[in-house]
Amino acid sequence: LADPNPISRTTTTTCGYCGVGCTLRVHVRDAAVAAITPVHGAPVNRGHACVKGRFAHAFTRSRERLTTPLIRDGGRDSPLRPASWQEALTVAATRLAAIRDHHGPDAIGMISSARATNEENYLAQKFARTVLGTNNIDNCSRLCHAPSAVGLAAAFGYAGGTNSVDDLDQTDCILIAGANPTEAHPVVGARIKQLVLRGARLIVIDPRRIDLAEMADVHVQARPGSNVAVFNGIARVLLDEGYADEDFLRTRASGLDELTALLGDYPPDHAARLAGVAPEALVAAARLYGAARRPAIVYGLGITEHAHGTDGVRTLSNLAILKGAVGTPDCCGILSMRGQNNVQGASDMGALPDMLPGYQHVADPGVRARFNRAWQAEVPARPGLRILDMFASAIAGRVRAMYVIGEDIAQTDPDSGNVRRALAACDLVINHDLFLSTTAEHADIVFPAVPFLEKDGTFVNFDRRIQRVRPALDPPGQARSDFDILHLLACAMGADLGCPTPADAMAECAALTPTFAGISHTRLDRDGPLHWPCRGPDQPGEGRLYLDSFATPDGRAALAVRPYLPPGEQPDTSFPYVLITGRRLVHYNSGSMSRRTPNQQLHPHEVLDLHPDDAARLELADGDLVEVTSRRATVTFPVHLTDTIAPGQLFTAFNFPDTPTNALTSDATDTETGCPEYKITAVSLSPVS
Ligand code: SF4
Repeated sequence: LADPNPISRTTTTTCGYCGVGCTLRVHVRDAAVAAITPVHGAPVNRGHACVKGRFAHAFTRSRERLTTPLIRDGGRDSPLRPASWQEALTVAATRLAAIRDHHGPDAIGMISSARATNEENYLAQKFARTVLGTNNIDNCSRLCHAPSAVGLAAAFGYAGGTNSVDDLDQTDCILIAGANPTEAHPVVGARIKQLVLRGARLIVIDPRRIDLAEMADVHVQARPGSNVAVFNGIARVLLDEGYADEDFLRTRASGLDELTALLGDYPPDHAARLAGVAPEALVAAARLYGAARRPAIVYGLGITEHAHGTDGVRTLSNLAILKGAVGTPDCCGILSMRGQNNVQGASDMGALPDMLPGYQHVADPGVRARFNRAWQAEVPARPGLRILDMFASAIAGRVRAMYVIGEDIAQTDPDSGNVRRALAACDLVINHDLFLSTTAEHADIVFPAVPFLEKDGTFVNFDRRIQRVRPALDPPGQARSDFDILHLLACAMGADLGCPTPADAMAECAALTPTFAGISHTRLDRDGPLHWPCRGPDQPGEGRLYLDSFATPDGRAALAVRPYLPPGEQPDTSFPYVLITGRRLVHYNSGSMSRRTPNQQLHPHEVLDLHPDDAARLELADGDLVEVTSRRATVTFPVHLTDTIAPGQLFTAFNFPDTPTNALTSDATDTETGCPEYKITAVSLSPVS
């Protein structure tokens, strides 16, 4: 029998929920998603998808979607009201231009989005640099993997992981550090489980007994903030016990003598004491990694989101260099698990205050001259402000306007009370979003935007793979893509951004960016995903990097000499617990999408994970309420008793605006990149009677 209401359209696209980048088929009936299925031949997910990518799509037809622009007639106390596009664009353009002209271009800060496509991020940074005239453009990689970009580039050359996820198939030992792929990157988590079941050894370095720790050969349950001590201790064992690849170190690496001198201070028992673990665990981890033929390292935000996050990336990279497990034909290298769907791409596209697309330095006159010629503009030479510096400058009165694309900074950025003070201090806040988010509530103008299921362009996933994103649905009402909104706003300000379509934007980016030179929509549609660097239309793209030489100034992998330094925020008698923040399987980031789907029933509100010993001391039972107080705020959570967290430590996520976890989090940042120390907040607990 014929289906009386058949699927009307099926579109192949890339999941917009996490950095794995699964290829999905979206089946549409009656202008709504009927089902999403994974693609069997897809290179990353191979027929798999998780509970987010497969089932969390109902938000697209939520009645809470913004369908018209919103503006306020008076100050922030007056309500937002619907406006026509013409009125909202005119108000935004007039007020932005006035601030630019009266206070200077650097009085405007712009935050682009990891949810947006590459083409939208390319356009956003072009808008900031050519229409506004400022390098004050950043994206949320500042808050997660900026230490990876800086650390991996310094160690090896490029600001990305060294290998393709496909290389994991060859590994006989996986070292997972500061990542919980089962929840945050489920398809990769499942792939790792399959590898372990097939015989690969597994080392987990994490303060929590995460799911994968249950099947690990060794779990180094290091205390938060001790990563550098752990990695230096492992490096010392690799050298002392003859696991280092001496040929590789002699011919392809630099810095061995300096590192050897530093490691004199890191005998395993001392490193283990700094990390709060048994020396035997640390030595066992080193021996497993050292004895492997093709070891792989997989790491995440538990390494980067620290006051010394870049040091963590560098000292972890040291292990791969010592072992000669990077830049060789059979290596498995290092994979950094990027969080949001396109957080790699947002930075690749130059939505950074110091870099143009392809990590070309804005301070380099030759680079600027090339962009100036192409854009018929004058790109400012001085690097701009990072996200958290924009907030400080707003509070100080130097930044007068914030333009925030698709990020709920008032919920997801650290020390959210400070973010709200910054937004309140601005004369103008412009926001694009799908919903009236916590940030949108502070905005003067809100443009209704669209999610990945309604977008055209590309994303870059965690292994530098550029993949097509195709619109499966039409936007509701008058919602528009960030790409269109940027074009319209530029036009309202009397400018023309060029590149009228996403394909044109990628073509322009490729012409200006050597590492993207071989990328085009036509080629991606014809051949499928491509890794960057891809330097020409006939080049295949490089999944496994550095086979000939490293992309560092001397062509060698750079060992780093980084001593252990204590975290930025320390517990004390007033704030004796350490709060770790992270991810939940069914929700995603601010939760604005996943909370408006049936996934909400699986995790309807936030909880605080607490060890039963601590609960007994505080006379708390599962589900009881507890006030969590940091040096900045107090937030109330129900407790969830679990021994996956160590005594004295706590864990929660930040997916719910009514449980504002980031009101608590620390204002300490990575000394090199400004990445916040989300993983360590000193707090006290007080049961709610
Ligand atoms: Fe989407 Fe990530 Fe799940 Fe894949 S693993 S379906 S990319 S959320």
